[in-house]
Amino acid sequence: MTAVRTLEKFGFGVDHAQADVVVVGGGGAASRAAVSAAQAGATVLMLAKAPVGQGGSTVHGASEIMSMGASGYGSRDDSATVHYEDTMRPAGGFIDRDLVRVLAEDAPKRIADLIELGVPFDRVDDGYKLIRSDFGSYARALGVKGKTGKAFVSALADEARKLGVDIRQPAALIDLLRDSTGRVSGVVAMDLESRRLLVVSARAVVLGTGGAHGLFSQQVSTAEMTGDGQAICFRHGAELVNMEFHQFGPAMVHPYVQLFSKSCFILHPKMLNRDGHEFLPDYLPAGVTPEAAMDEKVFPFTISNESRYIDIAIATEIAQGRGTERGAVHFSFADIAEERLAATIPNTLRWMRAKGLDPKRDLLEVGIAFQCLNGGVRMTSTDAMSTIEGLFVIGELAGGVRGPDRPGGNSLAEGQVFGHRAGVGAAAFARGSAAPGTSDGAPLAGRLETALKPNTWFDAQRIASDLRAAMQTHCLVEKTESGLNIALAAAREARAEFAAGGGATPSQVIDALTIDNMATTADVIVQACIERRESRSSHYRTDCPERDDAHFSHALTITRGEADPFRLAFDVLDYPGAEVTDASHSQAANHG
Ligand SMILES: Cc1cc2nc3c(=O)[nH]c(=O)nc-3n(C[C@H](O)[C@H](O)[C@H](O)COP(=O)(O)OP(=O)(O)OC[C@H]3O[C@@H](n4cnc5c(N)ncnc54)[C@H](O)[C@@H]3O)c2cc1C
Repeated sequence: MTAVRTLEKFGFGVDHAQADVVVVGGGGAASRAAVSAAQAGATVLMLAKAPVGQGGSTVHGASEIMSMGASGYGSRDDSATVHYEDTMRPAGGFIDRDLVRVLAEDAPKRIADLIELGVPFDRVDDGYKLIRSDFGSYARALGVKGKTGKAFVSALADEARKLGVDIRQPAALIDLLRDSTGRVSGVVAMDLESRRLLVVSARAVVLGTGGAHGLFSQQVSTAEMTGDGQAICFRHGAELVNMEFHQFGPAMVHPYVQLFSKSCFILHPKMLNRDGHEFLPDYLPAGVTPEAAMDEKVFPFTISNESRYIDIAIATEIAQGRGTERGAVHFSFADIAEERLAATIPNTLRWMRAKGLDPKRDLLEVGIAFQCLNGGVRMTSTDAMSTIEGLFVIGELAGGVRGPDRPGGNSLAEGQVFGHRAGVGAAAFARGSAAPGTSDGAPLAGRLETALKPNTWFDAQRIASDLRAAMQTHCLVEKTESGLNIALAAAREARAEFAAGGGATPSQVIDALTIDNMATTADVIVQACIERRESRSSHYRTDCPERDDAHFSHALTITRGEADPFRLAFDVLDYPGAEVTDASHSQAANHG
């Protein structure tokens, strides 16, 4: 039965569209892919769960120094080779050096494209204002007043419209379509306004659906980021890699959300619990002062320097009930001179004041928030093809150039570099291949049947909230096998609740399917965290506190199990290694 007929059988209104390439996502990576595929002559349909410019980390991510790393705009001694080495040094063995090479080589060209599209990168004197990120040998990251990604997406989306890209928004990807050979043949999505399904036939699919922020109670992206792409790819048997590594750290959680980068810590704010007690000294080893820990602070959390005690202290105060009602502690900047605030955190100060916050007067609520996934669906070629023919994966959804650690600025660069390569590659793939066979809607039918099964007990909000609480407590700062098993049980419980019936009408089906996606992606992440029985960078297992190079100095791939998909198949991925080190972590200014 064709996909459209299968869906109509369930009572859905169904529309049909066709394109050479369908691009899913509305962030930096997807909008770049849409532009590049259209420039390469393909007809392109792009769909995004939140309206383009409003959803995802690229547009929402704000930090004092959000920026994209690329050599060629700063020191003459910097180069693609140095950028390559800076990326391989902290993560070699966990990442694909061919992909890293093109990342470093192409990033300057993609900056040049953005400049041509009118992105107003910050300037100083007669050059660009450059930030030296974690692991960076040189200052090489360019930004736009802390809202860098928003500027990218705005310029790229305008260009996509000019090139005739058909943008459907808000529209959520529900599933991939494949023909009888397994090749991707399109997607099924739901138009979130009309609540009609959209079946898009396409010769190539590019997925750029970003991370899995919505699996955690506190996060610094937008709510619709529920790990849909990871879950859908996993279900289809794609290989994922490095799923145990994710980034998180201190972030203001109210009245707006903002990551607190090093610039906030070098001001030495006071950290107070709900009783007004300055708690950081309680967590520091003898000889380490709060000021020294704050001077070392990097975002994200890492066990490789003493700033780790800051995140541990905040998380522990909150977990033990000494936090605020919003799951935060208080930061006070009251004792810091106005001129220092203005000189050190000008963007932050502007954003706070715009929200009616005065850091000289108000206590700020700071929690530990999830920032991004370092693992993802494995890219197997330099044009970002996944292990599924015709399916390209880009940006934070994709895996291969981010390992236990990554240089700050590389994620925005990755979105631009592989967005472009996937767009061009997908257009060429569409041009060079025969039309796929008839799309079979049968694999989706089972899930829809479950989502529509009557069940008055199914409460998507409660299930999501329970899962988020378990992930926040057990799968963020300090991890243990027993805690991870609690998170795993929460993911399994959410899946079981979905399996009992989503109780949805056709128009609400997305809520039930989202629970299934969240539970699936959480299950994969947690199992990967359990499998890595050592501590490395942000993956801190207090029950296995040492790094164990003898057993774990390699990336792990994950695919669904054969009999039971959730008996995951782990495999060692033999990326040719470089020495993995974290020694340079404390040297630079930092950002995500
Ligand atoms: C606060 C913060 C600061 C950061 N700072 C930096 C930095 O300084 N430098 C750096 O390099 N990186 C930084 N990062 C990381 C970087 O911003 C992200 O990794 C990167 O922007 C991700 O881009 P993306 O296009 O892959 O995903 P996103 O920008 O997250 O976009 C994902 C898109 O997919 C859509 N989507 C999701 N699910 C579906 C679905 N089912 N159907 C259709 N569409 C869907 C979303 O609506 C969204 O449009 C930061 C991240 C955050 C959150």
